[in-house]
Amino acid sequence: MTFKELGLAEPILKALETEGYTNPTPIQQQAIPILLKGKDLLGVAQTGTGKTAAFGIPILHHLYERISLSQNKRKVKALVVTPTRELAIQIGESFTAYGRHTGLKNTVIFGGVKQGKQVNALRGGVDIIIATPGRLLDLMNQGFITFRDLEFVVLDEADQMLDMGFIHDIKKIIAKLPPKRQSLFFSATMPKSIVELSRKMLGDFERVTI
Ligand code: AMP
Repeated sequence: MTFKELGLAEPILKALETEGYTNPTPIQQQAIPILLKGKDLLGVAQTGTGKTAAFGIPILHHLYERISLSQNKRKVKALVVTPTRELAIQIGESFTAYGRHTGLKNTVIFGGVKQGKQVNALRGGVDIIIATPGRLLDLMNQGFITFRDLEFVVLDEADQMLDMGFIHDIKKIIAKLPPKRQSLFFSATMPKSIVELSRKMLGDFERVTI
């Protein structure tokens, strides 16, 4: 199977070529068609399987197709929540690479640094936010981020986020998102707490295991 056969928009295919990706990995082959159909997804997959592109590519594809239809001012339309600063930066770099020809903008939000630069980036307008839970909630509570126009949410490394004690923050974040949205949930393991959270967070979902 090729990326072209998945029906992705031309600017994304071009970026994947630049990245040197010739074929989708197994998780990408399974997840991308489900996500392009607009369904929710529970993905059981480890880092290193290509899961960032499995959710990044269809989100960029959807947002790009919609931008070409309407020239709205930038509003936050996708949110990725991930446990660590390192993962957030890495995911941000992937969105920048795969979306380099789409005109879509992302920014990365994490704790442990002053918030000024992150707030300025938000004020400039972004389409996609990649964030760790604590700082994200903090900036939401200060009124710097609204999710009125949000269409996609990804919880990445959900088991690690629960282990790190982020469950309350995550519940508070999800409570502020519009109910009509596409939700994606990725976890390396599936303990009971994750099954319960995914039942609460996801609508009618498909499950993919790698
Ligand atoms: P991830 O599991 O998202 O951390 O990705 C692991 C590594 O695989 C990253 O370095 C990606 O750049 C790379 N990668 C992801 N998808 C593909 C693909 N379809 N072909 C080749 N490399 C890929």
